[in-house]
Amino acid sequence: MGWQETSSPQSSTNRPRSRSSRAVSSTQRRDPQIARIVSEIDSRRIEDTIRKLVSFGTRNSLSDQNDPQRGIGAARDWLFAEFQKVAAQSGGRMKVEKQTFEQARAARVPQPTMMTNVVATLRGTQAESADRVYVVSGHYDSMCTSPTDAKCDAPGANDDASGTAAVLEMARVMARYKFEATIVFMAVVGEEQGLLGSTYFAEQAKKNNMNIEAMFTNDIVGNSLGGNGVRDRRTVRVFSEGVPSNESQAEAATRRSVGGENDSASRQLARFIKETSERYVPMKVWMVYRRDRYSRGGDHIPFLERGYAAVRFTEPNENYQHQHQNVRMENGVQYGDLPQFVDFQYIASVARVNAASLAALALSPARPKNVTVVTRLSNDTELKWEANKETDVAGYEIVWRDTTAATWTNSRAVGNVLSYVVKGMSKDNYFFGVRAVDKQGNRSPVTYPRPPAPVATPTPR
Ligand SMILES: [Zn+2]
Repeated sequence: MGWQETSSPQSSTNRPRSRSSRAVSSTQRRDPQIARIVSEIDSRRIEDTIRKLVSFGTRNSLSDQNDPQRGIGAARDWLFAEFQKVAAQSGGRMKVEKQTFEQARAARVPQPTMMTNVVATLRGTQAESADRVYVVSGHYDSMCTSPTDAKCDAPGANDDASGTAAVLEMARVMARYKFEATIVFMAVVGEEQGLLGSTYFAEQAKKNNMNIEAMFTNDIVGNSLGGNGVRDRRTVRVFSEGVPSNESQAEAATRRSVGGENDSASRQLARFIKETSERYVPMKVWMVYRRDRYSRGGDHIPFLERGYAAVRFTEPNENYQHQHQNVRMENGVQYGDLPQFVDFQYIASVARVNAASLAALALSPARPKNVTVVTRLSNDTELKWEANKETDVAGYEIVWRDTTAATWTNSRAVGNVLSYVVKGMSKDNYFFGVRAVDKQGNRSPVTYPRPPAPVATPTPR
C-alpha cells in the first residue's frame, strides 16, 4: 500500500490533510508464519480435549485430587501430560510445570485445599525480548449449581473446557514456531472458587518482577447459539477496561485533567487484537469497553489489579441454561454444561483470533516506554519516548484518532527518532499514540502518552 490521505469515515472536516498519513487498516501486511499458525488450529483436536475433560465427571476444585478417573486431579494430570507432549515438539524451548499452592479457607473453600495450575512456558528466542511475557489462559475447573458441591457431575464443556481446549490447541501449534518474546500457555484452577489459580499466578509474577506485557483469558468461548436464540459463529467479544483497576490517586487526577479513560494499556491491547486478528481470521472482534460482563468477573482481573494489561474473550450470546447448572431435565428443557451445546468449529475460530494476536505480539517489539506529550501551549503536538531495546527495531509510528473514535484511524511513520512534532494538530483535539516497528514490519501495540509530570491542579487560563 502506498502513502495515502485519510479516508476514515470518522474524519472531521477540520482535520489537516497530510500526504504522510494513512489509514491504520492499510498499513499492515500478512505475516506468512502467522497465517500458517492460524490454518493449523484444528477443531477436531479441540473437540477431543473437551470430551476428555468432560469425561472426568467433575472438575470442581474441591473434588478428588488422587482418583485417576474422576475429579480435578485426573484433569490436572491429563493436562500436564498433554502439555508435556507439546513441549517435546518445541526443541527444548517449552517447559511445563505444575504450580501448586495451598489455598487458605475462603468464601467458596470450606477448608484449606491444595490447588494446581498447569503452566507451559515457550521461551522467546530474542535475547532482548525473552523476558517479555504474554500469557493466555483458560480455567480447567468446573462447577454445577453449588460451587462447593464436589460430588455432582459438572461437565463444564463450555465453562471452561472450551477455553482450556483452545489454549492447549494454541500450544500444540505454536510450540513448533519461534517467537522473539515468551508465551505462557496456562490452564488455571479455582476460577469458580474465586479466581484463585489466576490470583496465585499473578501474585507470584508480581513478586518475581515478571514482565507480563499482556494477558488473555478465554472463558466461555464455546457456544455459538445464545439463550436468546441468536446463532453467531463469526463474532467473539473482547472485554477491556478503560480506567485501570490499579489506578493511583495521582494517576486519576492526571487522567481527569488530560483524558485517557478510553486509553488504558488493556484498551490498547483490545485494539491491537482487533486490528491484527481481523487480517487473518474471518471473525469479528466485538470490543466491549468494560472490564467484564455486567457485575461479573474472570481470570484477567487479578492481572489487572496488579497493573498488567489483560482482556477477556467470551462468546457473543451466552446461554445460562448451560452454565453452573446441575445436569437435569426440567419441563422438557435440558440443563447442564454438556458437549452437545458447544460448537467446536467456533472454538477453533476463537483460538485462531487468540493465536494470531499472540503470535503478532510475540514477534513484535515491545510497546514504547515512557511516552510523553509535551504540555506547553501549542497548536502542534510534540511527543517523546524512550528507545526500544530490541536490535531489530526500525523505527516508530505516531497514530491518532478523533477523540470520539473507537479505534486508531491514522498512522504516520516517523523514522528511528525519539521525539516528533505533529504539525498543525493540537493535542487538545486528537488522541495520539506511539508504536514501535521492527525491520520485518511487525508493529507493537500502541502506548498512550502521559504528561511528563503528574498534573496536580489544572492550570486555569
Ligand atoms: Zn468460567
